[in-house]
Amino acid sequence: MIYLDYSATTPVDDEVLEVYNKVSKNYIGNTNSLHRLGVESRKLMEESATQIANILKIKKEEIIFTSGATESNNLAILGVLGKYQNRGKHIITTKLEHSSILEVINYLKRNGYILDYVNINKDGTVDLEHLKSLLTKDTILVSINYVNSEVGIVQPIDEIGKIIKNYPQTIFHVDATQGLGKINLELEHVDLCSMSGHKIYAPKGIGCLIKKDHIELEPLIHGGKSQTIYRSGTPALPLIVSFAKAIKKAYINIDEKYEYIKKINEKIKSEIKKIENIEINSNELAIPHILNISVIGLKPETVLQDLSNKDIFISTKSACSSELTRSLALHAMGKEESISTTSIRVSLSHLTTEIEVETFIKEFKKTIQALNLKKGQ
Ligand code: PMP
Repeated sequence: MIYLDYSATTPVDDEVLEVYNKVSKNYIGNTNSLHRLGVESRKLMEESATQIANILKIKKEEIIFTSGATESNNLAILGVLGKYQNRGKHIITTKLEHSSILEVINYLKRNGYILDYVNINKDGTVDLEHLKSLLTKDTILVSINYVNSEVGIVQPIDEIGKIIKNYPQTIFHVDATQGLGKINLELEHVDLCSMSGHKIYAPKGIGCLIKKDHIELEPLIHGGKSQTIYRSGTPALPLIVSFAKAIKKAYINIDEKYEYIKKINEKIKSEIKKIENIEINSNELAIPHILNISVIGLKPETVLQDLSNKDIFISTKSACSSELTRSLALHAMGKEESISTTSIRVSLSHLTTEIEVETFIKEFKKTIQALNLKKGQ
């Protein structure tokens, strides 16, 4: 099997899983209980939050553990609008966002909020001048991802944050799900930030929302104070501790891992460029972990299926995208229809071996050849 869909989800790291098992067995107390076992569990949860906070250069009190980035995105957007509804009705986002942003915001639009999409430059970055022209005294929220999940483009988050700071009533939310553990995140000018564990070799079902301490939220899940007042329910301690371990591991040797992934990414690019009717959509601003390619003239689902039959796993657009035909992100980048409707995503890891890369290139070429032949018949 060759797994090249690491941006959809990752296999759990062995050491992380060991932490999960140990905490599940040895820390049975509810972090909300007042007895010794509860106190020990709470202490461990606090230590995990401190570890994450130190890595991300935030305060431990600013971490709200959630079930993943979908919940974090919902909590950020609905929580802010619930709390600050008198501040304004205007929201700004981009067409590069994950469906857990776009669909919440569309729901809000149907309920009286005014929505603007900031233009995207041809290179995939946010058009900063357009953003400046959209911001008003009525803008309550700007939500922009750190790294786009389909094409991998990294946004200039620090620069965007500084622009938004000129509007003190505007809250800046960043979805950093595809950036965590792959690049160093600059969160100084960010008010809220979503993250997920299963993209960085932690088990599925854990993530967090970073909420800077000057921001308040209306909770989505009520039930009293738990880890924080913003998200009730018994904290999932084994998941929380494994999430902290996964973040810690992700940032060890991050530069070496990045360089290795860049090397294998370039190898794939240089080989598949030689195939006719291939367009590489991920440019030099993309993280090397994500390689978006269009196979012009072929349906992306047929390419995916043919490779899947050979035990090679890639994806078409992002795994949870609900729009089936055209990539919103590629369309926003100004790509022609023939490109935005035929994209596939190959996502790489430091675990991807050079042999896997070579086999993928060979099989990918065969797949394209066979499908083109079949189409011509
Ligand atoms: N945001 C982005 C950018 C993502 O890539 C994903 C996962 N595909 C999510 C949010 C949702 O994350 P989760 O699966 O943790 O809910």
